[in-house]
Amino acid sequence: MRIILLGPPGSGKGTQGDLIARRYGFPKISTGDLLREAIQKQTPLGKRAESLVQQGQLVSDDIVEEMVKERISGADCRKGYILDGFPRTLSQAKALERMDGRRPEIVIDMHVAAPIVLDRLRQRQVCVECKAIYNTHLHKPRKENVCDICQGKLVQREDDSSAVVRERLKIYEEQTAKLKDYYLQKNVLKMIDGSGNVESIFQKIGALLDEELAKYPEKKNGR
Ligand code: AMP
Repeated sequence: MRIILLGPPGSGKGTQGDLIARRYGFPKISTGDLLREAIQKQTPLGKRAESLVQQGQLVSDDIVEEMVKERISGADCRKGYILDGFPRTLSQAKALERMDGRRPEIVIDMHVAAPIVLDRLRQRQVCVECKAIYNTHLHKPRKENVCDICQGKLVQREDDSSAVVRERLKIYEEQTAKLKDYYLQKNVLKMIDGSGNVESIFQKIGALLDEELAKYPEKKNGR
């Protein structure tokens, strides 16, 4: 099953994407993680993307489309995948259908009000090694600044600083939010309130995915 998680920065796409991956076995693909890795390794693509990511601007469609095309052609994506942070523009949404030959089965729009999103981003920490996501108030690591899973160092993302966050939210409203209409017309959009706690949101998402999977008994999950 091909799952797209839609929602502003801080709406919980990464956290819920990890939980979906663990329960259903589909790989989670985060274009933000792929870009940050390319920047860290200073690959040619990473160098092109670096200043845009730092400023909270979108990287050009051709760069991310190429990245996703390569990633979803991997054997582990044969039965499906979870996209976190892609598509972000109409052009990317159309490119995804061209590269995959099909539309996604389910697009989950995670609605969270702006003040909550701002708090979450201020409190977010990520593991530099395994990319696990924490919140210094709501989902604390057992040991401060240390990842529970791999003991990697936890840091705040540079683009989670308040000036850049405002730019990212503005771009979301201007460019990405219109994808809701696009997927509504394709009859694949499901909306959920993403403002509760992690477990209750995952319960709602799980119910939606189970309902969708029941339509395709032969593809129970990604395993
Ligand atoms: P994220 O981790 O999804 O918040 O993404 C972090 C940053 O990576 C964004 O602010 C953009 O600069 C860049 N980025 C991630 N995904 C995309 C995309 N689909 N299109 C363009 N830029 C992206």
